[in-house]
Amino acid sequence: MTVAGVEVFPLCNAVGPMGGTVRRPLTELFPGGGHRETDEWVLHFHCYLLRDAAGRTVLVDTGVGPEDSPAASWAPVPGVLGAELARVGVAAEEIDAVVVTHLHSDHASGVVVGGSPAFPNARHLLQRAEIEAAEETALDRFVRPLGERVQVVEGGAEVFPGIRVLHTPGHTPGHQVVRVGDLVLTGDVVLHPVQLADPSIPYLYDDDPDLAVVTRTKLLEQVEAERGVIATAHFAEPFTRLGG
Ligand SMILES: [Zn+2]
Ligand SMILES: [Zn+2]
Repeated sequence: MTVAGVEVFPLCNAVGPMGGTVRRPLTELFPGGGHRETDEWVLHFHCYLLRDAAGRTVLVDTGVGPEDSPAASWAPVPGVLGAELARVGVAAEEIDAVVVTHLHSDHASGVVVGGSPAFPNARHLLQRAEIEAAEETALDRFVRPLGERVQVVEGGAEVFPGIRVLHTPGHTPGHQVVRVGDLVLTGDVVLHPVQLADPSIPYLYDDDPDLAVVTRTKLLEQVEAERGVIATAHFAEPFTRLGG
C-alpha cells in the first residue's frame, strides 16, 4: 500500500507455531481472549519495507534471523528476509535506516548475520529504554556488532520526513512503533486479533502487562479515530483497517 507518499511493502519473514519452552495454549497466552483449548496459534513474522518519494528506504524489524539465530529455540528459522527484499527489488546495502521495534529475537535477529551487520549502510534506531533494559546476550548479539550504526532515540523521533518512531512501552520497556500518515506499524503492541476487540486482553509475554494494556488501548483508539490502518507483526494479514 501507499500512504502519505510512502510505499509500504509487507515482507513475510516466516510462518509457524511457537515452539520450545515458550509454547503455551492460546487460553494461557491471551487470558480472556475467548479461545478454545484446541485452538492453535500459527504466527506470521512480518517485517516491512518503507520507501519514500525520494527513494529512501526504511526497514521495520528484521525477523527471526538465520538458522543459528537466538530465535531458533522457539521460532521457525531461518527467516527469508533476504529473498523478500529481493522480491521488492531492494538490496541489503541500499537500506538507509532500520527500525528495531524491540530486542526480542523474532524482531532483532536479522540485524547481524554471521557476526556482521546485515544492513551495512543503515543507521539502526533503538529506544534508549530498550538498550538499558536489554540483557548482555541481546546487546552482544544484536547491538554491539552494529557499532556506530546504532542511533539511540528517546521517545518520538523522525526517521525521515513523514516517517516517525514513537515510544510505546509495555511489551518491552523500550518498545517503539512507526507512524506514516494514518498507518501505524505496531510491532508487538498488538499480538493477536482478539486484542482489537478488547485491548485489555493481556499477552503472557508482555513485560509489564498493565502498561501494555494502557499503551495498546491508547494507540488503537487513536488509529480507530482516524479510521487508520495498523500493520502488524504476527497477524496472518499484514494490514488491518480500524474503525472502518
Ligand atoms: Zn516481542
Ligand atoms: Zn514478536
